[in-house]
Amino acid sequence: MHLRTNIFLWVSLATVVPLMAIVLLVTGYSEQLHRKDVDERLQANLSFAVAEFDRRLSFEREVIAALAQSPSVDQVLPVLRAVLTGHQHAEHQQRTRYLAGFLGEVQLILKDVGTVRLLDYRGNTLAKVRDGEETPPSFMGLDPYPYAEEELDDPEFLYVLQTLNPGEVNYLLQPPSHTEYGDSGHVPMLDVAVPLTGESELLPIGYLTVNATGVQIDRILELSPRLYDGRLLIAELNPEVPERDGMILYDETVGRLFSTAKTPADNLHGQFGGRLTEAVRSAPYGAFDAPDGRTRVYYAEYYPYPNQLVSWVIATRVDMAAITAPFNRIRAGMLLFAVVAIGASLVLAQVGARRIARPITQLTRQLRDYARGRRRRLAPVRSTQEINELLVAFDYMADTLERAREERDQAESMLLQSAKLASIGEMAAGIGHEINNPLHNILTLAKLIDRSLPPDDRATREDLRALVDEAHRASRIVRGILNFSRQVPPHYERTHVQSLVEQSLQLVSQAARDQGVEFVSEMDPDLVIECDPHQLQQVLINLLLNAVQASGAGDEVRIEAGVDEEQKVRICVCDQGAGVAPEIIDKLFDPFFTTKPVGKGSGLGLSVSLGIIEHHGGTIKLANNERGGLTVSIVLPPRPQTPGESSD
Ligand code: ADP
Repeated sequence: MHLRTNIFLWVSLATVVPLMAIVLLVTGYSEQLHRKDVDERLQANLSFAVAEFDRRLSFEREVIAALAQSPSVDQVLPVLRAVLTGHQHAEHQQRTRYLAGFLGEVQLILKDVGTVRLLDYRGNTLAKVRDGEETPPSFMGLDPYPYAEEELDDPEFLYVLQTLNPGEVNYLLQPPSHTEYGDSGHVPMLDVAVPLTGESELLPIGYLTVNATGVQIDRILELSPRLYDGRLLIAELNPEVPERDGMILYDETVGRLFSTAKTPADNLHGQFGGRLTEAVRSAPYGAFDAPDGRTRVYYAEYYPYPNQLVSWVIATRVDMAAITAPFNRIRAGMLLFAVVAIGASLVLAQVGARRIARPITQLTRQLRDYARGRRRRLAPVRSTQEINELLVAFDYMADTLERAREERDQAESMLLQSAKLASIGEMAAGIGHEINNPLHNILTLAKLIDRSLPPDDRATREDLRALVDEAHRASRIVRGILNFSRQVPPHYERTHVQSLVEQSLQLVSQAARDQGVEFVSEMDPDLVIECDPHQLQQVLINLLLNAVQASGAGDEVRIEAGVDEEQKVRICVCDQGAGVAPEIIDKLFDPFFTTKPVGKGSGLGLSVSLGIIEHHGGTIKLANNERGGLTVSIVLPPRPQTPGESSD
């Protein structure tokens, strides 16, 4: 896999995975918070409705309790007492009518107070007021006074009446004829009854009953806020009256109002697969998801009647979609943010990966080029510090390798040269000896011939002299060859370099004058070396003569001597001549290689010098000067090297 792809993948992984995890965690957590918040708000909403019901019902109870103790009711107590004894009070009619008038006015003020009745101790209606109007008493029974309604023959109801707490506001179910709805259906709410007693009586002497209409509850329900479009449902739980148990009192989804007559057919126990009833039994308030999976139900149980076990279940049904809608927007926003962030991080990862990988790719390319022998200096790339350090380190390594290679090449060529010199030396020594004897004989015979020639034979003598000259020349060459091949080990002495150089300059001064060349020397006057002074002088003379011969008239030849950074003695001879063509520079140390005309050079000077310098453990190098001419540099150890000591 490419480095760039690798970096890209890792950077992407390092950003995308945590980002996705954060988004998922945050959305999950905030969804939880949101749902908790919704639950709390809806529960609070239900509690608010319950509180409103309670306030309303308490208010009604207070009003009815006040009514029962009002002077209007007090003034009918003697009438009720007379009824109790089977008589008619003298003011029976006036007093009951007065009470009815008062109750009618109350009804007009308090709209939700339904039909109000004054019952005698047997439950017969002495007075009845409905919609502010008194129903005139027109039913005559056995008693000497009329009733506003037919006599009630309902011992059960009578029993219920007798069990009521005197002086308190009680709730009860009245017979259908005494309800607002008659036989048309069940009442939504229980009616109110207050047993009336005088100061002297312990048992009730009559009852004041009020029909509840439920209109006010409808009003409360109408005004109560609907959070998340919740639809309200109210049902009665009545453990004592089975046909009312679970009866639905109010249901917004089907438009059933609280105040209308009820049919027990629609029952709470059938709703939500019975889950609501189950939930109410286990906790008085709470919430659950409906089996359809699309609705969530919140509920609260409320006991509206102080003396009854009857309770109302007030529930609101909310579509899940309405609950999750605001959160879905948040989630969509977060997902969009995540997508944008991931997109941006992918782009940046791509750019970053390219930026990091580019210098490495460049470096790889350059290394490959280097391996193929195309060395160029590595251009500094705009990259990290480590990469730049790598480039510098690579350049350093390449330089070191190149230097090592050059040194190795040089050492190899010197080795080759030495081997060549050694084998040529051996051959030359053999040839030298073989030629030397015939030359010797030629010269001896020439002397004998010269002696035997008549004094006037000038021509023959001239030829004989030429013969002797040529023989001498051949002899000099042979001596040079023998000298070259002799390989005499140096005889070391402490030698003052400046003196040695000056003596050498003296010896070649005539040749320099002839050529019109001037010597310039620059050297350390205290420089001392342990060497064979004769051999070193031979080298210096060779080099100086070569320099003089290569120079033109007016040129100068410099000779410098000093100590280099490795504490070795360095002697340089530098001329201003034509220098050496690069293609022959490697051949100059070869024996008998010469560019000089026949008779002028033997081609042995440099090879002999090389042999001497190597015997001293030194090196000799030739290099063309930038401004023309040649510089020959000799580097020698200041002391002879003991075996095993490095030569460099
Ligand atoms: P010779 O001087 O007898 O030719 P050397 O071995 O001394 O033999 O020199 C070999 C060759 O090196 C010379 O023929 C000449 O071409 C070349 N050479 C030596 N020294 C110099 C120099 N200073 N400038 C130019 N060429 C030189």
